[in-house]
Amino acid sequence: MPRKATTPMMEQYYQIKEQYPDAFLFYRVGDFYELYEDDAIKGSQILELTLTHRSNKSDNPIPMAGVPHMAVDSYVNTLVEKGYKVAICEQLEDPKKAKGMVKRGIIQLVTPGTKMAQGPDDSQESNYLTSVVAKSGGYGLAYSDLSTGEIFATHVKHYAEVVNELLSLRTREVVFAGNLAPEELESLNKANITVSEPAEVDGEHAEISYVQQKLTDPLEQAATRQLVVYLLATQKRSLAHLQIAESFEVGQYLQMANTVQRNLELTQSATTGKKQGSLFWVLDKTTTAMGGRLLKQWLSRPLLSLDRINQRQQMVQALLDDYFTRESIVDSLKGVYDLERLSGRIAFGNVNPRELLQLAKSLQATKPILQALADSGNPDLENYGRSIDPQSEVAESIQSCLVDEPPISAKEGNMIRPGVSEDLDKYREAMNGGKKWLAQMELEERQKTGIDNLKIGYNRVFGYFIQVSRGNVSKVPQDRYTRKQTLTNAERYITPELKEHENLILEAESRSTDLEYEIFSQLREAVKAHIPALQELGRKLAALDVFVAFAQDAEEKNYCRPSFSAKNEIFIKNGRHPVVEAVLPAGSYIPNDLIMDEDTSIYLITGPNMSGKSTYMRQLALIAIMAQIGSFVPAESAKLPVFDQIFTRIGAADDLYSGKSTFMVEMSEANEALQHASSRSLVLFDEIGRGTATYDGMALAGAIIKYLHDKVGAKTLFATHYHELTELDQTLPKLKNIHVGATEENGKLIFLHKILPGPADQSYGIHVAKLAGLPRSVLREASSMLKRLEAEGAREINPSQQLDLFNPVEIEEDPVNEEQAELLDEISQVNLNEKTPLEVMQLVAD
Ligand code: ADP
Repeated sequence: MPRKATTPMMEQYYQIKEQYPDAFLFYRVGDFYELYEDDAIKGSQILELTLTHRSNKSDNPIPMAGVPHMAVDSYVNTLVEKGYKVAICEQLEDPKKAKGMVKRGIIQLVTPGTKMAQGPDDSQESNYLTSVVAKSGGYGLAYSDLSTGEIFATHVKHYAEVVNELLSLRTREVVFAGNLAPEELESLNKANITVSEPAEVDGEHAEISYVQQKLTDPLEQAATRQLVVYLLATQKRSLAHLQIAESFEVGQYLQMANTVQRNLELTQSATTGKKQGSLFWVLDKTTTAMGGRLLKQWLSRPLLSLDRINQRQQMVQALLDDYFTRESIVDSLKGVYDLERLSGRIAFGNVNPRELLQLAKSLQATKPILQALADSGNPDLENYGRSIDPQSEVAESIQSCLVDEPPISAKEGNMIRPGVSEDLDKYREAMNGGKKWLAQMELEERQKTGIDNLKIGYNRVFGYFIQVSRGNVSKVPQDRYTRKQTLTNAERYITPELKEHENLILEAESRSTDLEYEIFSQLREAVKAHIPALQELGRKLAALDVFVAFAQDAEEKNYCRPSFSAKNEIFIKNGRHPVVEAVLPAGSYIPNDLIMDEDTSIYLITGPNMSGKSTYMRQLALIAIMAQIGSFVPAESAKLPVFDQIFTRIGAADDLYSGKSTFMVEMSEANEALQHASSRSLVLFDEIGRGTATYDGMALAGAIIKYLHDKVGAKTLFATHYHELTELDQTLPKLKNIHVGATEENGKLIFLHKILPGPADQSYGIHVAKLAGLPRSVLREASSMLKRLEAEGAREINPSQQLDLFNPVEIEEDPVNEEQAELLDEISQVNLNEKTPLEVMQLVAD
């Protein structure tokens, strides 16, 4: 940056700014953070600040904008939300005591991936910073949510898998070591991911080896190290809450691409991006924020291990069977705060007295939970309870130190109990003694002077004073009182002995608040040593919270406990779609069976639009996912294989990341399934081939089905409009036709939402168009065109996909609208491309 002729303070600014060229520099000056130069210009636009100038007099004024230090968080947040970084520069010494320039330095670099959750709105959100190391053998990947300190590490072979993880985690920032092609970088940026350079730190940091202790894979080690170093370098403090990194294989869990998770609306609605309308929304009966976050994690990583699934199911079953235990757990969980994030704040050193007390209360609330588990009489619940350490000593050490209602700030005193420190008690005695003395003095002075309303008061500027109202000023003993301040209605005086006691009181007060802060800091440090145990407790309570939620879901929504089959077969009796069921009026969802024995791998589903094909397909995927996270499922009974992967091509999900055309996305997703699905996978294809010409699409769809049938063997649901494809059951023994029933009543189409065997024998296109309110003339035209085409047996020139199966629909005449309809027909037949502008104007005039 070109420097302008300037003051020592600006010199200091430029020196610091040089080290953080890609961040907004918030430069502390007194009660403000100031931005200069380009930061000020850009910042004032984004943050809607007034842009002013420093040293207006010079030829070269420096653009400047400022924010009050009390409100800095929200400004920093806004910038970081938009993908920027913010370097916070503080005054490192008391300006009053500083000789010359106040020392300043960066105390924290806030980046999109290190932003800590703020309000309660974020309590269920995790903000993951991801670190990627690219080597010839593949990619190491590690990610962490700084607010909780959890770290996960894995390694993958291909860049596409890296991108998939980034998108699934909804990472906002990736620290990337290795080469990224310009188009790769661009597509990451498009997906709203900030790409950062790896950082370095000086000196020894215990965190680095601590978090890596369980990792064995060199790529994972490298990525984790890079992650922790970046956190240390940006946060510039010890991070005692970072947890031991947990290594996982992507293949340990049911795998779903990010697009699949989005399509199935597991944690957010595909249309709104909000929780409402998602599976998470339906299932989330959790009480704590920790439980909510854990449920979300489970939803994105369903299990493969039957043992683990069983363990979860057993807990849910036990809680379902025992209303009493469940209720008392829920009651107590209401008193448990976010232990994971509190631990983070303790490590960060920004926990306040109230939060520390919240921690203690949370630990106290754990006791009745353990009691309820111990008294349950169920061995699974009892065991679970025994595995929980409620950290009672921590609770006691906090509660014996802090008063019941401490202030938010640790710097104002009034938070430490009497009896904790002898010195503190002495200061307080001195303060009290001093205040008593003042009260006594007030009494005596009133008697001596005869001024009844004489008062002793205090303000920051003058300290203690004696106040006498204007009417009584004549009675003031001039020899003893010195006038200090004149108000409209009163005079204020001091005396030497008043000042003497003031000194004693103020000194005791300042010593006492300092000492309180010191005691508080010691307490915080002592609690810090328990952070790993507190985090472990948090994890245990979070899981318990989810089990209770599952039990409640099962009871309220009539879910059943699914069983698992070693054979490749599905038996779902009266299954329901959990989300559609939840939004429809109670009892109006039509349940459906899904039975696929070992010898069936593909169901070809036909039926009119809006009849429920895609609901039926999604229903299977959601039931499978729910089963594999340990939840009960919406069905009368269910027996499932353990699926290894789920592939989908459903709906009109646009691929924001790649920006590919719809048809291209469709084919890429189909390709994913063909290449990677196994016989243990689940494949859902909704109307493959729609994005291209009819025969082209139909041919592709047919070939894809044949490939899935012959080569893959995955359980597949394939919905299609191409009724021609239903004939495939003649040649493919593992393919069966099913359809969604519909009937006609009084010329109207009634959807039964009921799955029936065999292909659909009617097509309802024109009926549906009629329901949608298309102009009568269009319907009539379509109907007669179909009749004509049918008469000609014109399959070859067929513009409709379903002609051969189509029963012409009668559109009843409506004499009143006939004339209008004729006119509309006439207009619709005009080909504007063949007309001159003049002819068109004539037409409009007619
Ligand atoms: P398709 O895929 O055949 O076009 P959808 O699966 O999108 O149809 O279903 C359309 C609508 O029908 C859904 O939004 C839902 O409201 C309703 N629906 C679907 N299945 C059922 C069912 N089993 N019971 C009740 N309503 C259903």
